[in-house]
Amino acid sequence: MTYNIAIDGPAGAGKSTIARRVAKELSFVYVDTGAMYRAIGLFLIRNNTDIRDMEQVKKALSKVSISIAYKDGEQQVMLNGENVSGLIRTEAVGNMASAAAAIPSVREKLLDLQRKLAQTNNVVMDGRDIGTNILPDAQLKIYLTASADTRAQRRYDELCKKGIACDFLEIKEDIIKRDDQDMHRAIAPLSQAEDAVYLDSSEMTIDEVTKKIKSFYKEQA
Ligand code: C5P
Repeated sequence: MTYNIAIDGPAGAGKSTIARRVAKELSFVYVDTGAMYRAIGLFLIRNNTDIRDMEQVKKALSKVSISIAYKDGEQQVMLNGENVSGLIRTEAVGNMASAAAAIPSVREKLLDLQRKLAQTNNVVMDGRDIGTNILPDAQLKIYLTASADTRAQRRYDELCKKGIACDFLEIKEDIIKRDDQDMHRAIAPLSQAEDAVYLDSSEMTIDEVTKKIKSFYKEQA
């Protein structure tokens, strides 16, 4: 049997940084499910799909195949065989991913891939519905959050570091809007699983959060 760690939480809480670190230190496979939604978002943007039109969405989805590969231990997301990992980190793709993630057929498309990965590997999987919906039997569930200001500041710093021009208030507004969308959708909304540990990382370093999660794992394993 595999050991699964589920990490859910709002945008910019540091889930991917933490999940990647924990996976590396435990020799687990890191699965970034947000990247899969982002790849679908990118396809919908490229395809000029009007996502309010379910017929268009259905048609577009029939042309999409998502898979993942690993290169130097890093997850790569493949959209119809094309590695799009370098193209999905923009706010526009994130916003389209969030809008698309509220559509049941989009979620349906990714469910099997995510569950299969967890059945065949020890994984640290991060997303919005991993503990509540994708892996309800995960041995360890974390709900990782931080204040909106902290999350916006982290995203802002990250973009500045990459030399991408951005506006703090715009980023904060985007984050709040995306959280609202993700928490209030009808299907698989972001929420803390009953058996998840709540971790607020606003006042914690990456090292501290990583250590904490590893200590929960050690208590259990
Ligand atoms: O985590 P990330 O910002 O890359 O995710 C992009 C979007 O994909 C989220 O805002 C959310 O709407 C959606 N998502 C989801 N369920 C997941 C992972 C991501 O709905 N398990």
